Amino acid sequence: MARYTDSSCKLCRREGVKLFLKGERCYLDKCSFEKRSYAPGMHGQRQGRKPSEYALQLREKQKAKRQYGVLESQFRGYYHKAASRKGVTGELLLQTLEIRLDNVTHRLGLAPSHKAARQLVRHRHIMVNGRIVDVPSFQVTPGDTIQVRERSRHLALIHDSIKRVGEGRQAAWLSLDKVNLTGTVLEYPDREGIPTPVEEQLIVELYSK
Ligand code: SF4
Repeated sequence: MARYTDSSCKLCRREGVKLFLKGERCYLDKCSFEKRSYAPGMHGQRQGRKPSEYALQLREKQKAKRQYGVLESQFRGYYHKAASRKGVTGELLLQTLEIRLDNVTHRLGLAPSHKAARQLVRHRHIMVNGRIVDVPSFQVTPGDTIQVRERSRHLALIHDSIKRVGEGRQAAWLSLDKVNLTGTVLEYPDREGIPTPVEEQLIVELYSK
């Protein structure tokens, strides 16, 4: 599957907001966005015209896609799924993205970034309810346990990441047993529990045209 392979920091600069795509570096002074918060490219610092309604909607969609590392077709599929359910479509869309296994692995603190979490899942280091799941888009449900596989428990990446848990970065709808490297999904996240900096209503407006 096609993947974005250019600099993650350019994505933050393009969207004009920190997307926290690089793990620990994002919390340090080294963060590129702290030094250059304007868009990348030779016209990045140019004062543009007032963006159109469409441009604003498009940017919010791109921001969400980049935050969760999802490509267009899959993202559109999530939107249609959310739109077919009862409730606020924008919130349901974010919830569907939030309960992806790669995202939950990251939110639990088992990986420093979304990208690293995706790799942990892909490389079969993660189990859900005692069974290995290597599909990053796998959707978890309340009551599910997410565990690091026995033979993967020595991984430095996991232990370095776990040290940061408790610094206010963990989601309230998840709990983590640091000793056993096991997390539990307590409930579905509501909008307040989703720290993604997007205006989801604009995404809904874009797709419902
Ligand atoms: Fe974005 Fe992190 Fe890069 Fe900062 S360090 S620009 S938050 S990816």
